Amino acid sequence: MGFRRCWSVELYRLFSAGMRRPEAGPEEGHEKGCEPRLGGPKIAAMARRIYLETFGCQMNELDSELVSGQLVALGYTFTPDRALADVILYNTCSVREHAEQKVWSRLGELKERKLLEPGLVVGVLGCLAERDGVALINRMPVVDILVGPGELDKLPGLLENAVKTNESLAADAALLPSPPDQPYVTSARQVALQGNASRRSATLAAAGDSLELLDLSRSMSPMVGEGVRRSAYVRITRGCNKFCTYCVVPFTRGAEVHRPPDHIIEECKRLAGSGVIEVTLLGQTVNHYRFEHGAAVMLDGIMQPQKGRSYAGGGGAGLAGVHRRDPFTGANVTTFADLLRRIHDEVPAIKRLRFVTSYPRDFGDDVLEVIRDHPRICRYLHVPAQSGSNRLLKLMNRGYEVGEYLEFLDRARAFLDTSERPLEISGDFIVGFPTETDEDFEATVALIHKAQYKNSFIFKYSPRPGTVAIDKFADDVPEGVKRSRNNRLLAMQTAISQGRGERYVGRELEVFVEGYSTRERKKRAAERGACATGSGGGGVGGGLMALTVNGKLTQGGLAGLEMAGLERAGHEIAGHEHGGGEVSGHEVRVEVEVSEKASPQGPRAQFSARTDTDMIVMFDAEAGEELVGSLRRVIVTSANSLTLGAELV
Ligand code: SAM
Ligand code: SF4
Repeated sequence: MGFRRCWSVELYRLFSAGMRRPEAGPEEGHEKGCEPRLGGPKIAAMARRIYLETFGCQMNELDSELVSGQLVALGYTFTPDRALADVILYNTCSVREHAEQKVWSRLGELKERKLLEPGLVVGVLGCLAERDGVALINRMPVVDILVGPGELDKLPGLLENAVKTNESLAADAALLPSPPDQPYVTSARQVALQGNASRRSATLAAAGDSLELLDLSRSMSPMVGEGVRRSAYVRITRGCNKFCTYCVVPFTRGAEVHRPPDHIIEECKRLAGSGVIEVTLLGQTVNHYRFEHGAAVMLDGIMQPQKGRSYAGGGGAGLAGVHRRDPFTGANVTTFADLLRRIHDEVPAIKRLRFVTSYPRDFGDDVLEVIRDHPRICRYLHVPAQSGSNRLLKLMNRGYEVGEYLEFLDRARAFLDTSERPLEISGDFIVGFPTETDEDFEATVALIHKAQYKNSFIFKYSPRPGTVAIDKFADDVPEGVKRSRNNRLLAMQTAISQGRGERYVGRELEVFVEGYSTRERKKRAAERGACATGSGGGGVGGGLMALTVNGKLTQGGLAGLEMAGLERAGHEIAGHEHGGGEVSGHEVRVEVEVSEKASPQGPRAQFSARTDTDMIVMFDAEAGEELVGSLRRVIVTSANSLTLGAELV
């Protein structure tokens, strides 16, 4: 490989067939209607525009929101149009191969552009960056920046360095043109990864966790120009210690650490002060949260997240009554139940408090009691089971048996499912885990039948590099068998979901209006001639920024993000894997017809809303922004397996 040295940075030659360094002048690098963007100095002279696309779970969506807020504060602008961007960032997911493939193909598409525009900065953030490290740059030399999920606070510095480095490289490249048969692409190679440090000494790593500042300095301004943001995610734990054998998360997101409760409450208060009325607490095993105050570490005057002592959860069939509440509870400890109670009582402006994702073993009665006794905590639990076979649960290292899971479901319903206020539960399942037999699969069928979930997220097993399962077990269930098992569970869940939906018909409910339905937004975009492209570099509607999730532009802050999630989940329900990672707790395919008629009051539109049990509700109302982000009462008039149809009261 013919590397050249330029300062300490390498210029990589691309061997891809057909790739040629352009010999033409700068004019050729222009996007139609854009300012020149060849070379670094021109980038420096103008406000840099970022295209950020997010793959994966809510945690990634929150990460993207937090880094975007930081970058906006530093003067960057965002564009939803990749062609107009000076900086392209992908916040990635590696939980399943499908999500990863999308990122590889996006990066592959940038090769030619990077030859034309050596000043272009390309960054890979998140789990894929952490898992593959610099091997990722070796495979995709277009990449300038790698930042793992535990190092995102370093992104602004690395971005600045990358921009400057690429400016220099571009200038050098202009002076030292390479032979036409050996085009090369520049990489500024800015890297921030946790590596193994977080596991080697998790407590110390937590104590030095500058990532906490990222959450603390979160921007409270609306994400887009129009309207005020009403729904937000708040992280309470990072990382995961469970080490399920199939899962890459403990390796990419590091050890589980718990944020200080005062920080979380403060963040909720500030969000409420900025107009937010719905908060979703996030954690990989969110109900495992616990903060021990006596052991808290301060750094630069800031209390740091804490690894926290492990406990074996809330008991279960085998451990009936042993400790169905956190055993370390007391004045010096904030348990998950305490945290829910505090947010509910100390931030009354939060009208809806949700949390995902829960781990079945960690549900003590204390948590269920708090949900029962605090009306603004939503009656919705997302509690993945993964399999109905005890043999597979053991191979997966899930730490519970089916009997314990069922005991938890019964207990949760006994506490929380009443005729006035129902409880809804959703689950995750993996089909085709190594060695899964027909008998194992039938056990999963039986569990789904007993559990009567509102919805389930069903995944075909995907062997992930770095996990225990990929080393220990051959991926021996044929793809066709995985697919047919996947489809059978989806069909079964569809029938169950339909039945659960029908129980709501005729009821009057309070819903949180998230925005126009997906179909309505598509219709409106088509009517405008094109999706809001933000040409001119200012993002959507002249607002601060626009985020893109799995290639779909999101608008209206978190409500918009969730709507993008809804579309993905809808694909899954239709029999495919998620578009780019998991979306927990949401599913919809808009099946209610959009009203085309104008009423005497004005044009009508279809809105999408959500009950406190996480059921998706569609209703028609007068078009306009006033409803969005508010709590309204509706009467449910129809139900299908994915949504409820309703009328505004
Ligand atoms: N922390 C949550 C829990 O334990 O349930 C879930 C987080 S995981 C990132 C989201 C879902 O992805 C899991 O519940 C599991 O069903 C699925 N998943 C994770 N690894 C997978 C793999 N290798 N193949 C298929 N599905 C996988
Ligand atoms: Fe992955 Fe298991 Fe942790 Fe969930 S609990 S993030 S599935 S290791």
